[in-house]
Amino acid sequence: MGEFDLIRRYFLPVAEQQGHPDLLLALGDDCAIQRIPTDQDLVFSVDTQVEGVHFPRQYRPEYTAWRALATAASDLAAMGATPVCFTLALTLPEADENWLEGFGRGLAQAASRFGLALAGGDTTRGPLTISIQVHGTVPKGQGLMRSGAKVSDLVAVSGTLGDAGAALDYLDVQEPGNDERALLDRYHHPLPRLELGQALRGFASACIDISDGLIADLGHILERSGVGATLNPELLPLSMPLQRCAGDRAPHLALSSGDDYELCITISEVLWDRLSAEIKNHLTVIGRIDGEEGIRFEGGALANPGPQGFDHFGSIS
Ligand code: ADP
Ligand code: MG
Repeated sequence: MGEFDLIRRYFLPVAEQQGHPDLLLALGDDCAIQRIPTDQDLVFSVDTQVEGVHFPRQYRPEYTAWRALATAASDLAAMGATPVCFTLALTLPEADENWLEGFGRGLAQAASRFGLALAGGDTTRGPLTISIQVHGTVPKGQGLMRSGAKVSDLVAVSGTLGDAGAALDYLDVQEPGNDERALLDRYHHPLPRLELGQALRGFASACIDISDGLIADLGHILERSGVGATLNPELLPLSMPLQRCAGDRAPHLALSSGDDYELCITISEVLWDRLSAEIKNHLTVIGRIDGEEGIRFEGGALANPGPQGFDHFGSIS
């Protein structure tokens, strides 16, 4: 199977099933063409995933594709952007038809779920590597940035944290139970908070997606904004499966494990009060921005944090 057969067979169908009105020309030409409405800013980013580094070796191709597109889309969510299209640069050790078939299926599912049209790409031979560039739009000047957090803003996160990190222990379990399966699903099928990100435009003062863990990613907001934060670990949103599977480790996973792709935002109290109940339902306030550099913890739930205590977070600011 040649390069062009491969593209026609596995990637053209993805482009055909999920288009976008602003994507005027998709794969098959030298470039794709995207129209940018005059009242919109283009928001774009690229993400690379390498086998054995960002996902396990011999990982299922459906999951590989879903996670690659989901992690890229999550960056759009964090900007409050509306997804438009993506390009796919794929490096493959060989043209394995089974793998390509599964990858194409996972990619098609994710593309339609996230509303991202395949615009084109590049296919080369080498160690399995997936690079995805995503394009989205925001109304002019309304992109959510990391740099806007202000002293006395609330810190809030979406969904529940720590589930995907807990799942790492179960990746090789042959017959996972219900709780383990729920956690594994968070790892295999992350759901970027695209609608929530868009709904937070004009409300959140800063926003980031949690890919590396809350402490690390909130740390980026604090650094870019020149502020600090105090968090109450008792307020961390923990799923029931996480609490049952991880016990005492649950809050630590919620603070420091990655791969959940939830959003962490800061927001003034005034604007928090103006958020609709439906949006608030997706969010949990876990702390407040203050002027002292770094992250501090209050509350007694984690008075005895054990071997994974908070000390090693002390240097993060
Ligand atoms: P060029 O030599 O002009 O860069 P290519 O031979 O790399 O063109 O690709 C031919 C067409 O197929 C282009 O439109 C490109 O966008 C598309 N394409 C190549 N690889 C992929 C891929 N992995 N996914 C989607 N489209 C692809
Ligand atoms: Mg090319």
